[in-house]
Amino acid sequence: MIFVYWFRKDLRPDDNRAFHHFTEHLKKYISEPENKLLLLYIKNKNSFNYFGSKRINFLNLTLTELKNYLKDYNLNLEIAEGSSPEIFKNLLKSDNVTVFANSQVEPYSINRDEKVKKLIESSSGKFYFFSDTTIMEFGGVLKDDGTPYTVFTPFKKKFLSLLFEKDYAKIKCDLKALSKFSEKQFILSEMNFKRYEPDNSVNSFIKGGRKEGVAFLNSFYKDGMQTYKYQRDFPAIKGTSLLSPHLHFGTVSIRECFRTAYKKLETSQDKTGAETWLSELIWREFYYQITFHFPHVMEKSFKSDYENILWENDSSNFKKWCEGKTGYPIVDAGMRQLVQDGWMHNRVRMVTAMFLTKDLLIDWKWGEKFFAEHLIDLDFANNNGGWQWSASTGCDAQPYFRIFNPYLQSAKFDADGIYVKKYVPELKNVPLQYIHNPSEMPPTVQKEINFKTGKDYPLPVVNHFEMKERAINLFKYSKR
Ligand SMILES: Cc1cc2nc3c(=O)[nH]c(=O)nc-3n(C[C@H](O)[C@H](O)[C@H](O)COP(=O)(O)OP(=O)(O)OC[C@H]3O[C@@H](n4cnc5c(N)ncnc54)[C@H](O)[C@@H]3O)c2cc1C
Repeated sequence: MIFVYWFRKDLRPDDNRAFHHFTEHLKKYISEPENKLLLLYIKNKNSFNYFGSKRINFLNLTLTELKNYLKDYNLNLEIAEGSSPEIFKNLLKSDNVTVFANSQVEPYSINRDEKVKKLIESSSGKFYFFSDTTIMEFGGVLKDDGTPYTVFTPFKKKFLSLLFEKDYAKIKCDLKALSKFSEKQFILSEMNFKRYEPDNSVNSFIKGGRKEGVAFLNSFYKDGMQTYKYQRDFPAIKGTSLLSPHLHFGTVSIRECFRTAYKKLETSQDKTGAETWLSELIWREFYYQITFHFPHVMEKSFKSDYENILWENDSSNFKKWCEGKTGYPIVDAGMRQLVQDGWMHNRVRMVTAMFLTKDLLIDWKWGEKFFAEHLIDLDFANNNGGWQWSASTGCDAQPYFRIFNPYLQSAKFDADGIYVKKYVPELKNVPLQYIHNPSEMPPTVQKEINFKTGKDYPLPVVNHFEMKERAINLFKYSKR
């Protein structure tokens, strides 16, 4: 038997539920001479084609660090390239296989795991799944009548009523015990496998690896959590944890985040920062539960009525949005930050997403895909949830008639224009009173600063106030 630990979105050797059970299981069975051990990660080419270089860089750094860490215990992380069912089919040619892994919620991952499970079980192996990505297992927070929640506030209330300290307690993984079996490792190159060598040459704004993730969490605990409630909405300052890629790839565990938030709650007088951050972590739990119960959100609007919306889908406007050339500074700054850094501040994600859907009347699925191609922290459940919230097509979404005014959002959350000027440098000399809407700058001022709207910076691609009315009508009449 080959005992396989399959790392996926849990790229850490500690506080990892499936890895804990794997090490404990192995202690019992590995002594039989024919048994082997394999620590595996699979790089799937198709999904990788879809991801941006900064996200791949995060993953590569993470895999390199994990590999080196395991090496200190004489353990080898094997990184295979190809489709998961094909790789397991190949492995099964050598021996029976028992796999341990943490479950994933994305419909395509569930489908892949079903295929692998079938293969393994058809040759008398076992596939053991564990719940680790979220605090509550998928399907674990239901209304009293057994149906899923679709509104956040009651979900959060129920979630907190079910939450006990044991749910976020640390789960120990006995690497020392595992290292005793180092001479029994199954080496992929013995078979016909394509090995993947991570390329660490690209630099990105948020670096991969558990060390970096834990350092972010500690520094956020020390310097950020207390003021989170008041600072989180301002894109020019670092007011949030920047932990989302670490939470996605599992370099930091969700239990570690909850422990840290509760430690802050217990030790501070003003609890609002920790409470607000905890609430955001519970939004993550909410969107994971939504994806689990309503997998149709992967392709369709959560609210079926809104599948009938006749989006205008003007591809030249879409291009302007992608390139950050809409003539709306806050939108352009956000889109340029996304492409340049692989990242966008949450407030600006909402503004740009709402602008695409309500001002340009372009299908949220186009925007969801573009974000997916560029975000380091792309996470299917959160990205889909965020997009459907902004487009008003999701559960507990922003009502369709409450449309952000991009000028006011900019004036409120980037009052000094610092964020806008950072990402839209051609506006650096524009006086503050026009920074949120340079098209209003009188010709005399333009001349003074040697700047011409329409030439040095685009005029607004659409009129926000006209588009707002059109969007409201589009949504109103899409109802069957
Ligand atoms: C259109 C759109 C797309 C988004 N796409 C993604 C995505 O692909 N991946 C992703 O992780 N988040 C996404 N979000 C949610 C949110 O913008 C990011 O989680 C947040 O900006 C990450 O920064 P942070 O780690 O500093 O968050 P913090 O504010 O420090 O929050 C801590 C953690 O809580 C979770 N969280 C925070 N806000 C939300 C939220 N609104 N919904 C769900 N979980 C949340 C994240 O895991 C985050 O890391 C999206 C939001 C919108 C509006």
